[in-house]
Amino acid sequence: MAKILIIGACGQIGTELTKKLRSIYGKDEVVASDVRKGDPGFVASGPFEVVNALDFNQVQAVIEQYHVEDVYLMAALLSATAEKNPAFAWDLNMNSLFHVLNIAKAGKIKKIFWPSSIAVFGPTTPKLNTPQYTVMEPSTVYGISKQSGERWGEYYHNIYGVDIRSIRYPGLISWSTPPGGGTTDYAVDIYHKALADGKYTCFLNAETRLPMMYMDDAIRATVEIMQAPAENIKIRSAYNLSAMDFTPEEITEAIKKHIPGFTIDYAPDFRQKIADSWPQSIDDSSARQDWGWKHDFGLDAMTADMLEHLSEGKT
Ligand code: NAD
Repeated sequence: MAKILIIGACGQIGTELTKKLRSIYGKDEVVASDVRKGDPGFVASGPFEVVNALDFNQVQAVIEQYHVEDVYLMAALLSATAEKNPAFAWDLNMNSLFHVLNIAKAGKIKKIFWPSSIAVFGPTTPKLNTPQYTVMEPSTVYGISKQSGERWGEYYHNIYGVDIRSIRYPGLISWSTPPGGGTTDYAVDIYHKALADGKYTCFLNAETRLPMMYMDDAIRATVEIMQAPAENIKIRSAYNLSAMDFTPEEITEAIKKHIPGFTIDYAPDFRQKIADSWPQSIDDSSARQDWGWKHDFGLDAMTADMLEHLSEGKT
């Protein structure tokens, strides 16, 4: 059994991923790490180390200490936050990846999971059913860092034989952990506000269609791509991955089926421009073909599940 290290484990995805991997492989097999200590319950739930992903020696030391074989590198600055601090976003998103790639190149770990994003696409990319291989001219520092990361991952695979696997996550929606500063965060906030206030002011306009995925599906995809035989992973940059796409207007209608009085208004901010540069829907046939990807949740099923869990939390 491979020991696992998750870097950036206290974030929106890392928290859920840690729980899932521990449920599969056992809690002591999965070391959670982050630059900050998260929720005390989470930190106490298994091995936890404070690790700065930018510090090569710290990352390497924790890998040696626990005899880690697989690393999930989740630390990054997300799209909206990155635009506010482009130089730091570039530093964190690129150098954390180089550290892990170089540790793998030296033969000290066996496998890397590193998430990419639909932000690798840009305004010149075909927006509907965006293909795996197409024009990619990202216009955000976040997208530029993810596209560069994809290129470097593929390079380390081709030249040094590094086993890196990656997914272009769409916007991810979860009830248990708050989102981390992305352009699709509205699709999480809207459920909280629908239950708390019955109304929501959206930072994107009514017609902004974006690819999205429920966290349960995203975590399962992450586990499945890492469990797949190496020969099935034919794309070593990152796989397109899709489940659903919707607009703020459409998610509002889905919520109204449960909360009929719910209302929304719109006050687009700087994130509108980022959203406008991204695809509206994604063709993920390569992931479906190569390693058997299949999503479970669409908009209605996700909405019912989100509202049920968030209502439980309120009582
Ligand atoms: P998040 O912001 O919620 O979590 C990131 C975590 O990394 C945080 O806990 C943070 O403390 C930690 N971190 C930051 N700097 C660090 C450092 N120097 N060393 C160690 N840890 C550090 O982000 P997330 O939503 O969980 O995203 C995880 C990954 O998935 C990122 O690479 C992100 O780009 C990618 N992604 C996320 C989404 C989404 O919708 N959430 C979509 C596409 C891609």
